[in-house]
Amino acid sequence: MTTEQPTDFIRNIIKEDLRTGKNGGAVVTRFPPEPNGYLHIGHAKSICLNFGLAQEFNSRCHLRFDDTNPEKESDEYKNSIKTDVHWLGFDWGPHLYHASDYFEQLYEYALQFIRMGKAYVCSLSAEEMRTTRGTLSEPGQNSPYRDRTVEENLDLFQRMRAREFPDGAHVLRAKIDMASGNVNLRDPVIYRIRHVEHHQTGNTWCIYPMYDYTHCVSDALEGITHSLCTLEFEDHRPLYDWCLETLKTPCHPQQIEFARLEFTYTVTSKRRLKQLVEENWVSGWADPRMPTIQGIRKRGFPPSAIRKFCEMIGVSKKKTTIEMSVLEGCVRDELNDTTPRVLSVLDPLKVVLLNFPEGKTEILQAPNHPQNPEFGKRDLVLTREIYIEREDFMEDPPKDYFRLRPGGEVRLRYGYVMRCDKVIRDPQTGVITELHCEYDPATLGVNPVGRKVKGVVQWVSIEHSFTTPLRMYDRLFTVPEPASREKEGVPFTQFFNSDSLRVQEAHVESSLRQATPESRFQFERHGYFCCTDERTPDGNPIFNKIVSLRDGWK
Ligand code: ATP
Ligand code: MG
Repeated sequence: MTTEQPTDFIRNIIKEDLRTGKNGGAVVTRFPPEPNGYLHIGHAKSICLNFGLAQEFNSRCHLRFDDTNPEKESDEYKNSIKTDVHWLGFDWGPHLYHASDYFEQLYEYALQFIRMGKAYVCSLSAEEMRTTRGTLSEPGQNSPYRDRTVEENLDLFQRMRAREFPDGAHVLRAKIDMASGNVNLRDPVIYRIRHVEHHQTGNTWCIYPMYDYTHCVSDALEGITHSLCTLEFEDHRPLYDWCLETLKTPCHPQQIEFARLEFTYTVTSKRRLKQLVEENWVSGWADPRMPTIQGIRKRGFPPSAIRKFCEMIGVSKKKTTIEMSVLEGCVRDELNDTTPRVLSVLDPLKVVLLNFPEGKTEILQAPNHPQNPEFGKRDLVLTREIYIEREDFMEDPPKDYFRLRPGGEVRLRYGYVMRCDKVIRDPQTGVITELHCEYDPATLGVNPVGRKVKGVVQWVSIEHSFTTPLRMYDRLFTVPEPASREKEGVPFTQFFNSDSLRVQEAHVESSLRQATPESRFQFERHGYFCCTDERTPDGNPIFNKIVSLRDGWK
């Protein structure tokens, strides 16, 4: 991974603009979410791009809530968006705006359109408007209201604002070209009547501006220089430019489109994420299986790994569908360097060290990070009875098995060498219930004289460890593109992976009792885990699995 400044077509455009002095040396970007849901990993790409540019060019990035659909928006969503942008490591400073801050200005500009003969009040029903819009191959038909006079339009539009008409009675349309090859230019609606309360403006308005019209004007009013959006807005750019050219705004930002970020085995559309929440497929927007920022945060992904990932995938116009394993790789790389190691046993087999006195405890010192002494050391408590992993013992192992076998020796991680002398079974089932071993007190940190011990096993003291649930996650869906068959009527939820959450009890070394929420650890051999803010009834911290130690699921 490179630490050099990234380059891409957007940065090239900006550098060229700076060279030619196009915007007087300014670079102003914005991240404009609609507060109608929680942010997801796709948004992270846009956040890292827009705020990243501001950092790189020593300029600013605005956070603007694109709040033109009051029915679907809420303060809950706004707050979560602010929390998520901060968590990702970015800050808008004093530049927090709402499209609704500009409602009055947008209204004034709409009056201006009308006076210029560039907008008219249309009284067709939504259905009539649809049928007269034409198709990709056929032009649309002019509305019978297209030639209303300026006076009539001014009068009707003002009365729309004055609450004289019900929802849907009229709309304001830009007067462009019903025969345009670009459907977005066929007299698009720029205002509609909605008698609903708005989370910012209350009941001040009953007419609300449409997204396309609002967006370009908001960008211009804020002095945005480069308005970056995803590719589906490419066909809307002529309308963006038409509005600003017609209004002759002093600032005319350049809209530049880039490819959305999509992942396999998950969904990243707010509508679908909302459906997963509302139909209780998951526990909420912050369920650690969700690709929302809050979900991956709960899962334990560090924000720096997400930033690195966004830098690595870069920005282009080519559709990017990425395997979740690529993001996980970034997370793993980061956690390998930054997390302390701890010992745990998931599938316990009891070991009794027959020559270790009952009731005795011995403190062993273990480094918290094998490659990095700065992480310091911690105490491990050794007692007569310990657990090891069941898979670390085999009665009749193949030749290349280096772990424990009857009569064989292994080293307890950070401890002594022990030899297995006896295998105890359940007389009924024949299942091995415990091993009787002897440890060699002369082997702490040194090899036993004359014997080679290759195997090292994890262990925990039975008395000085605690049991706690680990939440293990798998892909959210069983197929790479769960929504690809929606058109045939196959709902994406049909491919929900019912094994995507598995809870497993683990025995964990006692030092982890003090773990604080959002702290991360490598459970040696088992993967990376994040401490949740939840506790078991006896007060033990509960952990989420972040990723496995190597690529691959489970
Ligand atoms: P959805 O389709 O999930 O509702 P959206 O694009 O409508 O998402 P917005 O709140 O409008 O969501 O998005 C805010 C910004 O984030 C926009 O500039 C949008 O282009 C960008 N964005 C949204 N999804 C992605 C994605 N998957 N990849 C990159 N950028 C994205
Ligand atoms: Mg959108």
